[in-house]
Amino acid sequence: MALPATPHSPGRLVVVQSLKRKRCAGCRRGPLSLLVLEDGAPRCLDCADLGHLVFLPRGDTALTRRSREGSALSAVVVRFNRRKSRYERQGVLVEEAALVRAEARCLADAEARRRRRARDARRRAVEDERFAVAFAAEILRLFPGCPAERARAIAAHASVRGSGRVGRSAAGRALTEGAVISAVVAAVRHVDTPYDQLLMSGVSRYEARRRITPAVESVLRTWQEAGEATG
Ligand SMILES: [Zn+2]
Repeated sequence: MALPATPHSPGRLVVVQSLKRKRCAGCRRGPLSLLVLEDGAPRCLDCADLGHLVFLPRGDTALTRRSREGSALSAVVVRFNRRKSRYERQGVLVEEAALVRAEARCLADAEARRRRRARDARRRAVEDERFAVAFAAEILRLFPGCPAERARAIAAHASVRGSGRVGRSAAGRALTEGAVISAVVAAVRHVDTPYDQLLMSGVSRYEARRRITPAVESVLRTWQEAGEATG
């Protein structure tokens, strides 16, 4: 049975992956795993002057495009899918030197992307650190009696990237007094009062906050006054 006609487009060579045990019409070599159909007759790659090309399986779009662009001669490799009754692309045949150059460029791109990601991560870490330092300084300005270690912990917690906590919000970014005070209040609530135990024991959030308000205010007052006493 003759092979179905291969898809044709001008300036594009098509090579067929054949499962049939065809022999080359030119040199009689065979069976051929890859062949070119010339006027319906199978020819081996050597007879078709494509024998020097190497196969690059489909899958890496950038590598395929660059390899083909760098090859003076290239071909598309297809295989006939009997069930779907159509040829399906398997890869390309390209010049080995072009493939090597394309691989080097793709590797360089991957390396460049990796370095850029590392640079971005370092820059974000520096930004986070600067922000946490500024946040801690603002806490100590408003609450001079707050232990420096606590201020640092609150600021670090509030500025964790992507957490959506107050420190990352626009207000926190601007280091408004409101944002700083909210972060301090939240920390005092969780660390210096039985707020968390109340919540765990089933007390409603509203009621728990009501019960601990005097304790929170007492801590905040101490932290504010300590500065006034020493300053
Ligand atoms: Zn041949």
